[in-house]
Amino acid sequence: MTGSRGSIATAPVVIDIRLRQGSFTLDLRETIDARTVALFGPSGSGKTTTLAAVAGLRRPCDGTIRIGNRALFDHARRIDVPPHDRRVGYVPQDLALFPHLDVRGNVMYGARPRDADVQTHAPILELLEIETFLDRPVGSLSGGERQRVALARALMTEPDLLLLDEPLAALDASLRGRILPYLERVRDELGTPMLYVSHAADEVRRVADRVIVLDNGRTARAGSPADVLPADARAGAPAGGG
Ligand code: ADP
Ligand code: MG
Repeated sequence: MTGSRGSIATAPVVIDIRLRQGSFTLDLRETIDARTVALFGPSGSGKTTTLAAVAGLRRPCDGTIRIGNRALFDHARRIDVPPHDRRVGYVPQDLALFPHLDVRGNVMYGARPRDADVQTHAPILELLEIETFLDRPVGSLSGGERQRVALARALMTEPDLLLLDEPLAALDASLRGRILPYLERVRDELGTPMLYVSHAADEVRRVADRVIVLDNGRTARAGSPADVLPADARAGAPAGGG
């Protein structure tokens, strides 16, 4: 079962970290209690690095990352929970699907051993409409189908937080319009909190209830989409990823 969390208040996510890579320094001090939060900002501002740190794939040199009372990382207390124990679903920008596995193999890769039957996950498969092509090789899928498979895999463990890195950037405009409703369904029907990276203002307006604008590794502004995003929706929607 997918366990509806819709009625339960979202545990605040604390991201209070310093992380250096090369000449770049990420210095974030955010407490997030909204359900869907967008990380918005130009290429190189630290969006992917932030997601990777929350997923446990890059280690900050200082600070803490918590979901509610659960510490994922705490430098002072020497806590660094391994990625697979963080109960966080990560969809990286390149999706990282396994080319040698079919759709079922990719989706089930994210499942816990005790949930090894794909039918246990029927609600997620239905929600994302992938139950009809479980046996297809991933190489034969369209961009939108691949995106939904990556999303399903990330949702298999009922994560406490879903991390999405520019989930629509690689898709053309019409596909983007078809995938957005799936993200809205995950938000509204599964109630999974999301940290959503984007540099497209129109998308962020539709999906997020809070926006953190990053600039050069720091928060430049934070607030509701209406308060912090540029007025012209089209201004922030360049083609391609960043
Ligand atoms: P964004 O996702 O906002 O485009 P990133 O988080 O990918 O930005 O990158 C932030 C900064 O860190 C950039 O200046 C980038 O060049 C640098 N960077 C990213 N990955 C590495 C790495 N593995 N080693 C050194 N510098 C990196
Ligand atoms: Mg990035």
